Amino acid sequence: MPRPRIPAPAPADGPWPVVNPATEEILTTVPMAGPAETDAAVARSHAAFATWRRVAPADRARLLRAFAAAVDADLTHLADLEVANAGHTVGNARWEAGNVRDVLEYYAAAPERQSGRQIPVAGGLDITFHEPLGVVGVIVPWNFPMPIAGWALAPALAAGNTVVLKPAELTPLTAIRLGELALEAGLPPGVLEVLPGRGDVVGRRFVTHPDVRKVVFTGSTRVGKEIMAGCAAQVKPVTLELGGKSANIVFADADLARAAATAPSAVFDNAGQDCCARSRILVQREVLDDFMALLEPAVKAVRVGDPADPATDMGPLISAARRAAVAGYVPEEAPVAFRGSAPDGPGFWFPPTVLAPVRPDDPAFTEEIFGPVVSVVPFADEQDAVHIANDTPYGLSGSIWTRDVGRAIRVARAVDAGNLSVNSHSSVRYSTPFGGFKQSGLGRELGPDALDAFTETKNVFISTEE
Ligand code: NAD
Repeated sequence: MPRPRIPAPAPADGPWPVVNPATEEILTTVPMAGPAETDAAVARSHAAFATWRRVAPADRARLLRAFAAAVDADLTHLADLEVANAGHTVGNARWEAGNVRDVLEYYAAAPERQSGRQIPVAGGLDITFHEPLGVVGVIVPWNFPMPIAGWALAPALAAGNTVVLKPAELTPLTAIRLGELALEAGLPPGVLEVLPGRGDVVGRRFVTHPDVRKVVFTGSTRVGKEIMAGCAAQVKPVTLELGGKSANIVFADADLARAAATAPSAVFDNAGQDCCARSRILVQREVLDDFMALLEPAVKAVRVGDPADPATDMGPLISAARRAAVAGYVPEEAPVAFRGSAPDGPGFWFPPTVLAPVRPDDPAFTEEIFGPVVSVVPFADEQDAVHIANDTPYGLSGSIWTRDVGRAIRVARAVDAGNLSVNSHSSVRYSTPFGGFKQSGLGRELGPDALDAFTETKNVFISTEE
């Protein structure tokens, strides 16, 4: 079958073909919003804000729970859309749709609990309110289209804001469906507007439009810096979730078998297109050979193939351009220690690849690859491990493998990253904060504090003087 030609870049507006990365077939076409449609959506969202902020807390909570229930009822369909559009394994895609439901349910509790404070002062009563900001612009990347949208829109709506949501050009389908589900669940029109479109058209307009009062951006550090600079012109608050180059630190006293068995999924999950990917494995020198011997069968056992097959561990990369970028980190002369397999034929496949020994200045070791490539390097002692882990402009996540609890805590405190796990690779729970240090981001999503990012504190003093 002839492969479709994929136009690049996306048109500024008009139809855009959405491609299945596992087959290279065009799934559908989606109209890209242009500047006029963006302004019209912001105007609808701004108008809806006036009423949404006044919806009684219990009613806003009920509507968010209904939205969560609608997502739950549509979970299989949403997951299938993501399998087809993003090449996510079906197991992952179901978890992702379930995560949107869970995040909506979690923040549905907020409207009735978002109390201010009463602060003792002389001569009157002093109280604080958490006021919503207005229209919140949410810009989402293609790697986790559903959860990343949910992490922003759920707390933003719970706090009384309205949302304009721009999915990535390559992966608009689940965002469009979430917009439909919100309406079906009874959210008033305009409260959640979904606008597929180009970053430099729709996304940039969120930055410059005076009625968009906050931007939540998840994506590359390069674009994040541009957004932050653009928002400065209006002193517009931003939440930024950016890139990563996280370390998986394995000490000699660790359960090596578990550390090696779990290392592949910590970096190859979602084909390595994960901001939290543990793409640098640091191993204490005296156990390096043992670790590598355990890692090799674990990497070779990763099943790469049809993402719709429940037995598959890893699907394709998102696009031909992404595959070319990843391949650039593994040239002919690259120090490939071993690699897994990947299907031939159509689809943007790349095999799980382990590089070792790696020069400290090798771009594969210093740059975010965003693909299934991991570097393994040895370290001497605790201090050396922390030094290597922190020798990066990023600081998103990381893992520490050791049986020494004191060391686990010392290293967890010393690594400059927002999300660390000990003897596990977990990064994300909807009830705990998520975000990056250094150039991995600004602000925190999820957990109890995320609501603060979507409100302004207002202080009101009421005189009791006669
Ligand atoms: P990207 O920065 O190219 O695009 C992200 C989004 O921004 C897309 O919707 C895009 O259309 C939009 N955009 C592009 N240019 C824009 C502009 N000038 N103004 C406004 N919006 C613009 O990133 P990507 O390639 O889609 O995603 C990969 C990156 O995302 C990686 O660096 C990864 O680490 C990062 N990421 C971070 C997290 C996190 O939570 N920290 C999560 C997922 C992905």
